Amino acid sequence: MSDQTRFILNESDLPKAWYNILADSPVAPAPVLHPQTLEPVTPDFLSVLFPMELILQEISSEAYIDIPEPVREIYKLYRPTPLIRARRLEKMLDTPAHIYYKNESVSPAGSHKPNTAIAQAYYNKAAGTKAITTETGAGQWGSALSMACNFFDLDLEVYMVKISYQQKPYRRVFMETFGAKVYASPTDRTQYGKALLAKDPDNPGSLGIAISEAVEVAATSGGVKKYSLGSVLNHVLMHQTVIGEEALMQMDMAGEYPDVVIGCVGGGSNFAGLAYPFLRQNLKDGQRTRLVAVEPTATPSITKGSYTFDYGDTAKMAPVVKMHTLGHTFVPAGIHAGGLRYHGMAPSLSALCDAGLIEAVAVPQLATFEAAIKFARSEGIIPAPESAHAIRTAIDEALDAKQKGEKRVIVFNLSGHGHFDMSAFEAYLSGKLVDYEHPAEAIAEAIKDLPQVVLPV
Ligand SMILES: *Cc1c(COP(=O)(O)O)cnc(C)c1O
Repeated sequence: MSDQTRFILNESDLPKAWYNILADSPVAPAPVLHPQTLEPVTPDFLSVLFPMELILQEISSEAYIDIPEPVREIYKLYRPTPLIRARRLEKMLDTPAHIYYKNESVSPAGSHKPNTAIAQAYYNKAAGTKAITTETGAGQWGSALSMACNFFDLDLEVYMVKISYQQKPYRRVFMETFGAKVYASPTDRTQYGKALLAKDPDNPGSLGIAISEAVEVAATSGGVKKYSLGSVLNHVLMHQTVIGEEALMQMDMAGEYPDVVIGCVGGGSNFAGLAYPFLRQNLKDGQRTRLVAVEPTATPSITKGSYTFDYGDTAKMAPVVKMHTLGHTFVPAGIHAGGLRYHGMAPSLSALCDAGLIEAVAVPQLATFEAAIKFARSEGIIPAPESAHAIRTAIDEALDAKQKGEKRVIVFNLSGHGHFDMSAFEAYLSGKLVDYEHPAEAIAEAIKDLPQVVLPV
């Protein structure tokens, strides 16, 4: 076992391929359905929104897909990212456990999201796309994609959830610095946005609504604009696997192998990026690492939602997929400050949870922020509130190991830093946050709106 604290790979160790879990997953993916007909979609339908290369990746069953050289060149601005042994946190907790974290906060945009943003911008550019539309909630995805579109000389329109647009003006300026156009959603730029504003001019927006607007603009652009999504889809999760491939090499340098791998989940991409390569080792190499996805009790799609077919967006324009969902009409509680607000979950991750190959837990927000503060005060990095969900569970594992007198090796993903989230930290530090659990009645109500899918047997 190494006595080092930082495990740093060379530029030449940067992975040459992404890993596709669908090649090894024992659970076959459910078909992706057209939102109107509820029949399996054709590549034609998807090609209105995405370039063909990404559609082929979406449905690919190849285990490895080569990372194009221009994408690797940009990755080298911040990859390979460090794996850090959290020795000071271990000491603070007085635990026999060894805690490691993969530090994705070192990317230029401050999160893991550039790993797919750069790839998606590259494939769009290669396919002749001129402009991209997307949504952003807290602003992390819009920030990453604005940087990537700037590198590949693509125009970008970002539909930003109105409440975040108002609360996070510097996120907007971040995106504008890279040349993106940012609109507070719902806008009057789309039929759907106009209809919502006619009913309620003060509609605060939601991720599901912003996705609907971005999809509508791309779908009605006559092929000029394509749409890009920052999580949930197979190709997005696959682009994130550089995280886990690097972490495997770094754990080798550390001379240990994880007993448990942890990540927070919104749509599932940073968790899958770290965990899927370790899942491959479980499936093909006899390892027995526990893989734990962590969500907030305010948006508990895996732990409380239904595993069924649902729309990807609120206006029912995005494809219907089988996933853990709180219903496409879901609007997160205003008091919830921790991000991870999407109503659904990546279909591949949902299927693997359903099959028992991945565990899920939900953590309340006060305990989450408490963990964020512990981490900041021991390791010196203020984590994104999203990442703090993973930290909470990593600390709980370390305390459990202490109680049982076990040496446990824990690896979690620090998916981003929290430098744009000071208002959430301020709310916590000044005692304004309370715990919130998404009510069971709301879940039961939303389920009534799900599409009635009848699959041929
Ligand atoms: C967007 C984001 C998440 C949640 O998205 P996933 O697709 O589930 O990874 C988590 N952490 C940070 C820092 C993010 O920006």
